[in-house]
Amino acid sequence: MYCPKCRVKYKNDISLCPDCGELLVESLPPANKPDYHGMVVVYTTSDQSKILIAKSLLEDADIKFFASGDGIMDLFGAGRLGFNPIVGAIDFKVKPEDEEEAKEILAGLIEDELDDDLDDEYVDDEEDEY
Ligand SMILES: [Zn+2]
Repeated sequence: MYCPKCRVKYKNDISLCPDCGELLVESLPPANKPDYHGMVVVYTTSDQSKILIAKSLLEDADIKFFASGDGIMDLFGAGRLGFNPIVGAIDFKVKPEDEEEAKEILAGLIEDELDDDLDDEYVDDEEDEY
């Protein structure tokens, strides 16, 4: 018998999981975790305002996505509400079939990011001359 929550095998003579009290089952159901395999990163940013914009753009377009970063498996999935402060860059991942549409939707944000990079380089060059 297996506990569907703990995914641990137990001897046949018990029917409840000693750890969590869940009713044991004869075979484990398929893992109920989101499948991140095959997801493609369409946008990466560490700017919180852009993270929120990207999130709402994708939601408006009905594109299923995951946002993940250091130590964060999913920000918006799994019923997590609200928005916690994040340190570091966040990857927006979508299914391969949605990649093109997502990139189109996020094109404005992606261009912003490139502009920022160019500005930074320009400033750096100027500083070097002095
Ligand atoms: Zn259990």
